[in-house]
Amino acid sequence: MAKSMMIVHTLEELFPARRLLDGPVGLVPTMGFLHAGHISLVQQAKSECKSVVVSIFVNPTQFGPNEDLASYPRNIERDLHLLEEAGVDIVWMPTPEVMYPAGYQTWVEVESLTRPLEGSMRPGHFRGVTTVVAKLFNATRPDRAYFGQKDAQQAAVIRQMARDLSYALEIVICPILREADGLAMSSRNTYLNPEQRQAAPVLYRSLLAARAAYEQGERSAEKLCQMVKDVLSTEPQAQLQYVSCADYNTLAELENVSGKALISMAVFVGKTRLIDNIVLG
Ligand code: AMP
Repeated sequence: MAKSMMIVHTLEELFPARRLLDGPVGLVPTMGFLHAGHISLVQQAKSECKSVVVSIFVNPTQFGPNEDLASYPRNIERDLHLLEEAGVDIVWMPTPEVMYPAGYQTWVEVESLTRPLEGSMRPGHFRGVTTVVAKLFNATRPDRAYFGQKDAQQAAVIRQMARDLSYALEIVICPILREADGLAMSSRNTYLNPEQRQAAPVLYRSLLAARAAYEQGERSAEKLCQMVKDVLSTEPQAQLQYVSCADYNTLAELENVSGKALISMAVFVGKTRLIDNIVLG
């Protein structure tokens, strides 16, 4: 018979439950409202680890004052059902008070890598992300932690943090899961009304246009970004916030693509901010 899934909230519940797990232990951090993209991370963790811990925590410190913390979608019952089906060992659902008790004053900051792209549009976002992920690592002590390429800069920042802070764990980055029409799966897709949902695959189409040009020999970052803009401009519902063609490792903007590169973007469809990316080379 399959072991039953433990659901814990406090550190006092988590620590003894964690001690009982057979290693290697995989951790999948999430903000809940799970979709197949999240579950693909859990499945990869299951295939590589003896035990899997999933955290569900909508981390207030990574949301800006004008962002969607209050309206972030939640469906705990459905999440727990999906995680049980996937064979997860522990689900940790801390409250904000567990993570940030009164008097909290310790922060983790990664420097250069957090400045461009999402970091420039969402001041303080990565400080919240790295702080909470460091706390998740410390509390669950995983051997491997699983993140999605969907949040490409976050993946790079966390890899850097794990290296810089000497965490004895492996960061595993998993591919982007997409809907049949190419839209990258995201909990925030639920904000889209039917017309917006129909318009949203233009993000991926624009990235594919850039990839096709790259494959035909285009190496100018400016021209590749222009291709993205041209395709996006065919969809009046899509308002580009930024598009970038950057070095995959350093996230420094490129003039010409020579090694591995990341084309990444943020686009408003109505009031919903969507991000997507593609790797070249
Ligand atoms: P979130 O709940 O949005 O914080 O996401 C939790 C983890 O799932 C992060 O590491 C994300 O990068 C990853 N993730 C989100 N969407 C996808 C997707 N469409 N495909 C693969 N991983 C994803």
